[in-house]
Amino acid sequence: MKARPGSAERAEGRRRLRRLQAGLRRRRLDATIVFDRTNVVYLTGFRSSLSYLIVTPREAVLFVDGRYIEAARATVRHCEVELFKKIGETLARWRRRIRPSRVGLEGSIPWSQWREFGSHLPGVELVEAEELILRARLIKSSSEIRSIQASARLNDAVYESTLQALRPGMTELDVRRHLRAEVDRLGVEGQSFDCIIASGPAASRPHYVPSANRLRRGDLLLIDMGMLVDGYCSDMTRVVALGSPPKARLRRAFDAVLEAEEAALREVGPGVKAADLHRLAVEKLRRRGLAGRFTHGLGHGVGLQIHEAPVLNAYSTDVLRAGMVITIEPGVYLPGQGGVRIEDLVLVTSTGHRVLSGATKTFRIVPFEA
Ligand code: ZN
Ligand code: ZN
Repeated sequence: MKARPGSAERAEGRRRLRRLQAGLRRRRLDATIVFDRTNVVYLTGFRSSLSYLIVTPREAVLFVDGRYIEAARATVRHCEVELFKKIGETLARWRRRIRPSRVGLEGSIPWSQWREFGSHLPGVELVEAEELILRARLIKSSSEIRSIQASARLNDAVYESTLQALRPGMTELDVRRHLRAEVDRLGVEGQSFDCIIASGPAASRPHYVPSANRLRRGDLLLIDMGMLVDGYCSDMTRVVALGSPPKARLRRAFDAVLEAEEAALREVGPGVKAADLHRLAVEKLRRRGLAGRFTHGLGHGVGLQIHEAPVLNAYSTDVLRAGMVITIEPGVYLPGQGGVRIEDLVLVTSTGHRVLSGATKTFRIVPFEA
């Protein structure tokens, strides 16, 4: 979090709130109580472990407790900040003042929280209204795109220096240690998720956790990683061969995945159905007899969260629009032998797309000497 938001950030914060307030009027809601951490950050720029943002068509108040009041008053500029001690009392007072009849809540908050809000707001109809925020978050503003692009560039840099550290005798955990040290050395805010480092047969498990597994010459090494800039995520997966060519079957898998990835990527643009992109990648893999080895969706949206809307898989009803940031990440997994996934971070533009990931994705044998 930055100490003090600049005027551009404040203007953007106000725009986001205004858009939400227009949505409230459209849905005939008297207010929405925003509880989800990420949604609060999106609307106020303020990070905390607990806060309640109450937005009506005319006002927005961020309620924080004693731990956060000083920081919130110093940084939040485009909505009111108030201290709460017991949220029940605060909500009861607010209800007497505003007299709301319909209040929107997020579908993502725990049921226990819904029930608690209900008990403090007797006679108020509570409805699910998170789409008002999620729909706005789908389309990134130019400042959000700048943060995601910066995150992707740092990710490229950390990835390249991690490759340079690879030596025989290292384990996956050693690689992760190098990667984390590089994150600190470059002064990066953090990783958008804990990196996946999978070598040899381990790469057949898409969400593998690095282990004491030793890197060996001729193995494929899969690295799936992302950074954070201004709270915005990047996400990229690359696969390299360590020191010498891999077994022919894995090389064929690599070529098939790259072909599928590039074919899907070429089609990315506004108006394209996410499900069609997924099917296109599956079709490319089918021609190589590998469609059954692709066991997850083609990609996902990326923003303040590493996985957010839209969804790119066979069942998705999402249609791409300019300003979305998505991943394209087909994979082929061969149990007991290894796996390949190639993932690019992509911005959908009004005329097509722009790839934000910069690291080489064509087949690459990296130096692997003692
Ligand atoms: Zn990834
Ligand atoms: Zn991903």
